Amino acid sequence: MADVDNLESHFERITVNDENEEQYQTAKQGHKSKGSLSAAISISGLASSTNANRMKLPLQKLQSANSLKSTTITKVTLPSQAAQQNRDQNARTSDEAILAVSRPSAINAPLYQQPSEPKKFHLGMFEIGKPLGKGKFGRVYLAKERSSGFICALKVLHKSELQQGKVEKQVRREIEIQSNLAHPNILRLYGHFHDAKRVFLILEFAGKGELYKHLRKEQRFPEWKAATYIAQMAAALKYLHKKHVMHRDIKPENILVGIHGEIKISDFGWSVHAPNNRRNTMCGTLDYLPPEMIKPGSQENFYSEKVDLWSLGVLTYEFLVGEAPFEDTPVQTQRRIARGEMTIPGFISPEARDLIKRLLVLDPEKRIPLEEVEKHPWIIKHCVKGERATQRSSGSSKVRSSDERSER
Ligand code: ATP
Ligand code: MG
Repeated sequence: MADVDNLESHFERITVNDENEEQYQTAKQGHKSKGSLSAAISISGLASSTNANRMKLPLQKLQSANSLKSTTITKVTLPSQAAQQNRDQNARTSDEAILAVSRPSAINAPLYQQPSEPKKFHLGMFEIGKPLGKGKFGRVYLAKERSSGFICALKVLHKSELQQGKVEKQVRREIEIQSNLAHPNILRLYGHFHDAKRVFLILEFAGKGELYKHLRKEQRFPEWKAATYIAQMAAALKYLHKKHVMHRDIKPENILVGIHGEIKISDFGWSVHAPNNRRNTMCGTLDYLPPEMIKPGSQENFYSEKVDLWSLGVLTYEFLVGEAPFEDTPVQTQRRIARGEMTIPGFISPEARDLIKRLLVLDPEKRIPLEEVEKHPWIIKHCVKGERATQRSSGSSKVRSSDERSER
């Protein structure tokens, strides 16, 4: 699909109005009104020639909101367009990604001299390309930062709709959390800005779109591909949990696919949200909820990052089987999740079966930890270190393992 070299052809005339003037005024006001969604940003870089690949992240807010303890993010290197294509080769492991963006909080001096006037983003800095999709609260467009040529996805959210949907807080948290994360399997949020009516999120462009669509098209993934994805998910979750961030909404709809076929976790809207809230609003998608979140009377504070391990188990199952393990009527789904009642079809390999069973454990404390997921025989069997799903799929003539051939 979207070959980066061919992206030029997708840029036509801008159809989104630039409201710069209003934006600057609102930005100034935003500085004062801390609690509003229009709080001003202080991100430098995208277009600045001397600091073209750097930007400052609003960390303090995230720290207070989510009690991040161990690391302080000071500077993130914004990849150039060329680096965007090579980024995955350069930052393969989560540890490398962490090193690239974080340092012990004891050292508080910035890594680089900060520019005196941080560059602010505005719509005029972007050339807007084809629409990439539409969500509940806005549209996403392919975009190019004019001065650097940097390709990204611009998500446009209308403030009135956010207000009506009562999701301003949620979007705010999404921005705060996601902009402080830098991992090859997590969708980057490079920055945000707003005008009078809209909020704009500058997102990493995921060239191969939604994982959900790939799964529906292929019905189910062969074991080597599922294992590659699950290994990437485990690496991303390990990185998140190290930063004390729980995603809490892991499912194929919230995963995008990068140009190299690598997965990118997105949608951090529920990552610090109260479960009660979520239960009410998410009643259509119970499939991925862990038992400790559906139990009546369970307390908000009861949940730990282990909720993501359960969802990883559901994801593994759905990748391999093509449907979620507890899919049923809402009442039945809840009942079955609470009891851990599921059937693993016979065509699933013993190794995959073992991993699913170790993740879908009712007691959160007894779920297999992410470090062990990465070393699990199923993962080891299918994932050559550093090898990617697309490299295998595009390297067509590769010999596949016997259980996979029997699936076809
Ligand atoms: P919801 O509103 O429930 O979160 P959603 O996640 O589909 O739904 P958006 O995040 O607004 O909504 O995205 C809309 C669609 O745009 C996505 O489904 C996806 O197809 C596409 N899209 C979003 N972000 C990107 C991106 N960074 N790169 C490529 N495509 C994207
Ligand atoms: Mg979304």
